[in-house]
Amino acid sequence: MANVEKIIIIGSGPAAWTAAIYAARANLEPLVFEGALTEENRLAGTLPLGQLALTTEVENYPGFPAGNLEAYLDDAIDKNQRTMMAPHMKEGVSGPELMELMRQQARNFGTRVITQDIVEVDVDNHPFKLSASDGKAYGSLAVIVATGARANYLGLPSEEEYKNRGVSACAVCDGALPRFRGHPVAVVGGGDSSVEEADYLSKFASTVYMIHRRDELRASKIMAQRAMDNPKIEVLWSRTLAEVLGNDADGVTGVRLASTKGEPEVQKEVTGVFLAIGHTPNTAFLAGRLQMTEKKYIKWTTPGRTVTSVEGVFAAGDVADDYYRQAVTAAGTGCMAALDAERWLAAKGFH
Ligand code: NAP
Repeated sequence: MANVEKIIIIGSGPAAWTAAIYAARANLEPLVFEGALTEENRLAGTLPLGQLALTTEVENYPGFPAGNLEAYLDDAIDKNQRTMMAPHMKEGVSGPELMELMRQQARNFGTRVITQDIVEVDVDNHPFKLSASDGKAYGSLAVIVATGARANYLGLPSEEEYKNRGVSACAVCDGALPRFRGHPVAVVGGGDSSVEEADYLSKFASTVYMIHRRDELRASKIMAQRAMDNPKIEVLWSRTLAEVLGNDADGVTGVRLASTKGEPEVQKEVTGVFLAIGHTPNTAFLAGRLQMTEKKYIKWTTPGRTVTSVEGVFAAGDVADDYYRQAVTAAGTGCMAALDAERWLAAKGFH
């Protein structure tokens, strides 16, 4: 362990970059581990730049109304990074562009970035010891965990094939896209999230099929009632998604549904398939180190603060929030974590 950093930030979504911007401006010289570029991370949906990098247009992040950002992107982003980005296709900002802009902003204030995963954090001793996926160890006085969460997918090859071409796990992110407007779409799941997604999609779609594997929703009574009362939502009971149907030109065109009750398979024409079968926080590398909730999200131990069960370790974004899960709320808690860390370091006389 060569040097001891003042602060290490783990993650590369809106929470991590916002924390880095604030930490850098507070002279904490943050070091960010943005995640490794591996096939394993690609398949898990945990590549650098997080869940937003897997979405298309972002219409609900304040500050980016529709407009042609091309020239701004050319000007704002480092040339070598810019040439690696997908061409700017539409009006407004896309998820990957927004993340590149946040990353650039953090780097402009001196943030150093390492493209590796942190695979282990030893919080029993101080300075904390963090082990990276390249085998190196790093010491740090404070740590912000902002590794986010991943949407659960079923793992079907056809689901993978049509991701971003009709298959999504975020109705709020993608639901208003033209491909879903006025067309039938499907939502998989029977919990509160699936009702919320179906309800949201019903504003745009002609019909929303909820595909649920049992004959009773898991959702709370009030949410289940909302699904029943919505004339555009049709629940397809005791059904599972067997295959997403589609082609290269159109993306998703339908679904093939199996029955859990021995009924024949059915097909439905849809232009979109939304998975709402839960999220998994990216906390496996912290198992046994920090207090977690039942669902393995990091526990914020003081209301309204980003502190965790270990003094000097802070958490921000979806890794500690299974309720709001928005880019802007993640950015908000990233800012809070940097301020909490800065104040803690000052109170301890480290900074
Ligand atoms: P959830 O309650 O765990 O529901 C997940 C749903 O997906 C369940 O219906 C489950 O089916 C289904 N599912 C899971 N794995 C599946 C698979 N492999 N194949 C097919 N179906 C599968 O998750 P959630 O809806 O995301 O909710 C998470 C938490 O957030 C809950 O506590 C919820 O109350 C809360 N929440 C609240 C609100 C609200 O109040 N407005 C909104 C969103 C979320 P089974 O039912 O058969 O297990």
